[in-house]
Amino acid sequence: MHEGGHMFGLPSNKRKENVEEKLGGHCTNRCVMRQGLIVPDDWVRMTEDRIKYGPLCNQCVNEIYAFFRE
Ligand SMILES: [Zn+2]
Ligand SMILES: [Zn+2]
Repeated sequence: MHEGGHMFGLPSNKRKENVEEKLGGHCTNRCVMRQGLIVPDDWVRMTEDRIKYGPLCNQCVNEIYAFFRE
């Protein structure tokens, strides 16, 4: 899901906040587009959040819409 998000341009390179540069741009919201470098801890946390709150934060959802509009 995360890599699919990158294919659709997430996080947008126009984004100025809630973004970090860690092996490429990554979302810092509660979102599958966060970077998960500590395996398995990060992946466990992200999977729990995804099940509980859904895959993408509003900011990433809006950027996917913008990606397909452009
Ligand atoms: Zn990534
Ligand atoms: Zn996000």
